[in-house]
Amino acid sequence: MTTQKLPVIECPDCQEQTVLPHGNLRGISEFQWYWPMDEPTLKFACPRCGRLSVHRKDAVLREILDKSDLTLPPSVLWRVEFACDQENSGPPIVVHTKTDVDGSSREAEALARRAKPAAVVGSELPLASAAKLLSIQLVSFE
Ligand SMILES: [Zn+2]
Repeated sequence: MTTQKLPVIECPDCQEQTVLPHGNLRGISEFQWYWPMDEPTLKFACPRCGRLSVHRKDAVLREILDKSDLTLPPSVLWRVEFACDQENSGPPIVVHTKTDVDGSSREAEALARRAKPAAVVGSELPLASAAKLLSIQLVSFE
């Protein structure tokens, strides 16, 4: 059995664990795993219970996982960006979520929008249900 130490975030409500992929996109860090470079925290919409949780980089768990754990169920991480509602003047609201490998970007957007409590940015401005979608990117494993 092969084990590997991996960065894992855990949903505070249902304990769903999500392994952060190796760095790519804009999130490459010295740790070699994905983190949103423009933010100190990572917001995650749990696909299982719908809870939105906020994770700090220095609080990411380093779990020793059996590699076989990672093969089921296969999932992919999404980075969903919404426009800040205040005349679009602030930074985008970035929410991450997870779907099955065959999940669609539409599904990821719905998960990000539905998560409670609503994502906030900077001055605690909640994500409006009608917030404009800026982009959806797949954060793929390398
Ligand atoms: Zn959960």
